[in-house]
Amino acid sequence: MGSPRVVIIGAGIVGTNLADELTARGWDQVTVVDQGPLPLTGGSTSHAPGLVFQTTPSKTMTALASYTVDKFKGLDVDGEWCFNQVGGLEVATTSQRLAELHRRQGWATSWGVDARVIEPEECAKLHPLLDPLRILGGLYVETDGLAKASRAVVALSRRAQARGAEFRGSTKVVGIEHSGGRVTGVTTTTGVIPADIVVSCGGFWGPDLGALIGMDVPLLPLAHQYVTTHQLPELVGRNTESSEAGFPILRHQDQDLYFREHVDRLGIGSYAHRPMPVDLRDLPGGEVTSDAMPSMLTFTEEDFAPAWEKSKELLPCLRDATIENGFNGIFSFTPDGGPLIGESPDVAGFWIAEAVWVTHSAGVARAVAQLLVDGRSEVELHGCDVHRFEEVQLDPQYVSETSQQNFVEIYDILHPLQPKESPRDIRVSPFHVRQKELGAMFLESHGWERPHWFEANADLVAQLPPEWQPKPRDEWAAKFHSPIAAAEAWRTRTAVAMYDMTPLKRLEVSGPGALALLERLTTAKMDKSIGAVTYALALDAAGGVRSDLTVARLSENTFQVGANGNLDMDYFRRQAPADGSVTVRDITGGTCCIGLWGPLAREVVTALSRDDFSNANFKYFRSKQVRIGGVPVTAMRLSYVGELGWELYTSADNGLRLWDALWAEGQRHGVIAAGRAAFNSLRMEKGYRSWGTDMTTEHNPYEAGLGFAVRLQKEEFHGRDALAGISDDTVQRRLACLVVDDGTSVVLGSEPVFVDGAPVGYVTSASFGHTVGAPIAYAWLPATAVVGTGVEIQYFDRRIAATVAAEPLVDPEMKKIRA
Ligand SMILES: Cc1cc2nc3c(=O)[nH]c(=O)nc-3n(C[C@H](O)[C@H](O)[C@H](O)COP(=O)(O)OP(=O)(O)OC[C@H]3O[C@@H](n4cnc5c(N)ncnc54)[C@H](O)[C@@H]3O)c2cc1C
Repeated sequence: MGSPRVVIIGAGIVGTNLADELTARGWDQVTVVDQGPLPLTGGSTSHAPGLVFQTTPSKTMTALASYTVDKFKGLDVDGEWCFNQVGGLEVATTSQRLAELHRRQGWATSWGVDARVIEPEECAKLHPLLDPLRILGGLYVETDGLAKASRAVVALSRRAQARGAEFRGSTKVVGIEHSGGRVTGVTTTTGVIPADIVVSCGGFWGPDLGALIGMDVPLLPLAHQYVTTHQLPELVGRNTESSEAGFPILRHQDQDLYFREHVDRLGIGSYAHRPMPVDLRDLPGGEVTSDAMPSMLTFTEEDFAPAWEKSKELLPCLRDATIENGFNGIFSFTPDGGPLIGESPDVAGFWIAEAVWVTHSAGVARAVAQLLVDGRSEVELHGCDVHRFEEVQLDPQYVSETSQQNFVEIYDILHPLQPKESPRDIRVSPFHVRQKELGAMFLESHGWERPHWFEANADLVAQLPPEWQPKPRDEWAAKFHSPIAAAEAWRTRTAVAMYDMTPLKRLEVSGPGALALLERLTTAKMDKSIGAVTYALALDAAGGVRSDLTVARLSENTFQVGANGNLDMDYFRRQAPADGSVTVRDITGGTCCIGLWGPLAREVVTALSRDDFSNANFKYFRSKQVRIGGVPVTAMRLSYVGELGWELYTSADNGLRLWDALWAEGQRHGVIAAGRAAFNSLRMEKGYRSWGTDMTTEHNPYEAGLGFAVRLQKEEFHGRDALAGISDDTVQRRLACLVVDDGTSVVLGSEPVFVDGAPVGYVTSASFGHTVGAPIAYAWLPATAVVGTGVEIQYFDRRIAATVAAEPLVDPEMKKIRA
């Protein structure tokens, strides 16, 4: 049997890269169609200036960029370059930006990219158009550079064609054919092309293409300004028509600007202007040329005027210069800035790979090719998967507002906890009204309002015993934080607290085939008595952790699955058998959950219920249907914070009454409402991992310290075969627990970790451990970094000493939780 027939829509940098990657893997029935002429289709790629800066806060995005660099370095068209590795320089004109450059240098180190923070003089030496007196320093990445996207498209399509791919220009896709839930082809202006797989690489046309089969593609086309100056005397004779550039690509994020050479002219890109959303119906028509194409709108000079002045300040040679031409070019923005990769939930075989920069194009194309050919991408993609968004986040108004906000903030210094300012209050739990009364400081995630701490607990800080007193934090670590978190942690460990767990994704998996599905998809035994609760992992084919799940058997054929997000919902739905024997429902919004945790939790529920909450009759990791304060509740004896207690689930309509009943009774026991800041600290002290931050598909269960959740005695489960020969003893790297030596210096996550002066890993989660009285962190480290190993964590421009600790730090004997 030959390879499947693939149609790729779009011959931009993403589509041609994908054709190259697929044909390199032996798929030879690939047809690439584009509505525009070839090779200059008129899409974003046709005019992309092609600056490739690899460093980002995201490990995945950096890996996608680094692959693009490596791949494009090996491409040429008749000897002409596709990647000119001139280096990348980001400069600081403020002390905050200089600090940020150190933070970025840390990310680069964490993700394996060589980067240096350098002095102004060295910046000016590398880029002599810079006035060293105007800057405070720079971040230099030698391997960054310029991608010649319009040429790479030619190189890639030639290579793909040589391997059998066909390219058809001036062929617009006007319909997607499908039958029985599977794609069967595309209808174009020149006829139908049958296909087993269709991949839409339509760039900012993505929403229109998705609409052809009713798939939401949450991206917003936005215009962004780019100009080229007239000839600059300073550049005359420096570059040839062929080399184009010799100075590093340059970013001036303090003013939302970037720069590159075009032989003897300078190109300037600006994000400093108002967001300019584009309606796809307003695109310019007519013949596509290098100066006129649908992705180029007329330059609006007045929008560029402030950017031009700021450019002159940074680069004095521009003071006598003039702008030769400019345009407002269109490309895609998304609600969280990430790309969109994935298969339609309704029509199998219809995929998208959109909202992708040139910078990440080859990396994304390789990932999609691997997903299609092997079923798994070697780079983990949870931040790129189109199904990461919740239903409310697919609304066009939400997409428009958040994507515009991303445009505005593109070069801003963003704190890891910084919440969206708008839109807010989209999803609230039934307890929201009470939380507001208690002065909740809300952060936002996937549309949910989540209390981080409660001002109502402020008075407790003064009552804290000396060893619990919060330590001072530096200005950055103190942002979006409050010492109140220490008091909330203290009350949880010593009395009882109520945590709103409503936003955690909950699925109901039911039907005669539910047990078999869960047995197949998870690492643990599921065929247990009704009431059993099981912690299990879902693995991918290579044994990577695709999620961790808490599965409660509520009846013979009904399971409640505590999951991590919409990706789990998408996965379970796809994996459910086609015979209808399993129903997978997202019950998150219709239900709510209070985590009632602390040594006095039993006193509170017992007083409100006729049910038996004793240790003998309600054991750890069991669930029961109970009534609390008259409210029907599914109680699960579980605790993310490592204390005695229950997760109390009820329907949304009953939520407020449950809260009020617990609150009223809890007063006698010192109950408080507690937020995510305390929660995070407590869960880390107890060694509980957070999927997506601490581990992903990149890691196997043993590396992640989750080998206990794998039951190899089970004959078959997804990913089992890949674990053969792997154990706690064989792993080369581990998620390790670190305690900061000085007892005060808090880090926030993603910082590089050094052993003997060499970078060997990076921090995942970090917090202050209030119970242990010191900052704690989890980090990926070589397995050789055993307990007791001294390490250093790079935090901005300094190194913080820490030690690998035995975990969990709190209650390793499980006495509290099983009490
Ligand atoms: C001014 C500007 C500067 C930029 N600078 C940089 C930069 O420095 N670095 C960087 O990494 N990125 C940059 N970008 C972003 C980058 O250009 C894009 O993200 C990238 O080119 C997108 O590639 P693509 O293949 O997804 O989309 P495109 O190149 O737009 O390709 C999509 C293709 O789909 C085709 N298509 C759409 N609908 C249909 C249909 N119905 N039937 C058939 N074909 C269809 C289109 O004709 C088009 O050719 C910049 C963008 C702009 C606007």
